[in-house]
Order: sequence, then structure tokens, then C-alpha cells
Amino acid sequence: MDCLFCAIVAGDIPSRGVYADDTAYAFLDINPWHRGHTVLVPRRHVADLLEQPEGLGEIAPAINATGRLLVDRLGAQGLNLLSNAGAVAGQEVFHLHVHLIPRYADRPGMAGLMQRESDIDLDEVYRQLVAG
Ligand code: AMP
Ligand code: ZN
Repeated sequence: MDCLFCAIVAGDIPSRGVYADDTAYAFLDINPWHRGHTVLVPRRHVADLLEQPEGLGEIAPAINATGRLLVDRLGAQGLNLLSNAGAVAGQEVFHLHVHLIPRYADRPGMAGLMQRESDIDLDEVYRQLVAG
């Protein structure tokens, strides 16, 4: 099967991993909406939440741990969780994933959620997350 996130989980495509356990893997989104925007996936291939709603339960502990890590290490004041299910909902990669989006007081509110920042240095964010 040709799946980008399966290839990332397998290590065949490089990623900036910020959290991993037996069932889930979380890595920095390559095109972040906010500093620390992270994608979290189950290791096994599940297309989306509509195909297997229970897939979310499997990765719930990893979502909790990754959310805590992002807020603590990046000094975020809030966090958005989002999972797009189906092309009509904006899903582009058809391997179940949750977006964890740290939020900061200088750009608050839902209206600013998806406005991408072009000047985020992913390597610098990665160092701050993995080195603490
Ligand atoms: P969605 O639209 O919910 O399917 O989101 C897919 C997300 O995956 C987008 O936010 C992309 O920026 C992100 N993405 C795509 N390719 C990569 C990659 N190689 N590494 C990290 N994130 C990626
Ligand atoms: Zn997959």
C-alpha cells in the first residue's frame, strides 16, 4: 500500500518525531499552522475516524502525552485537536491522524487556526521539544 504516514512510521521517509509509544507516533507537521503543530498517527494503518471510530481510543494516551509535551516545552497557552475524516472534510492523507496545534496569546481564536506561518524554523522547534 502506498501510504505516506505508513512510510513515516516505518522510518522510510524522515520526520521530526516528538513522541512515540507502542501504538502511536507523533511528528512535526511539515507545513505548520502554528509553532509546534504536530501530527499524531496510529502505527497501524487506519484510513480515518469514519472507517474505525475506535482508532481514536487506541491513540488517546499518546494524544494526552503529546499535548502535555507541546504545551509544557513550547510555553503554549492552549491547544487545538483536529481530525479530518474524508476528502470532503479536508483530509489529504488517508491514514488516521490527529492534528495537535499549540496556541499562543498573540494569535488567539478559531479564526486564526489555519493561517499558516511561513517563518517557523522546524529544526529549532524540534530541538526545543526533544531537548526540553
Ligand atoms: P490532512 O489535511 O488532515 O490530511 O493533514 C495532513 C497533514 O500532513 C498536513 O497538515 C500536511 O502539512 C502534513 N504533512 C504532509 N506530508 C508531511 C510530511 N512528510 N511530514 C510531516 N507532515 C506532513
Ligand atoms: Zn498508512
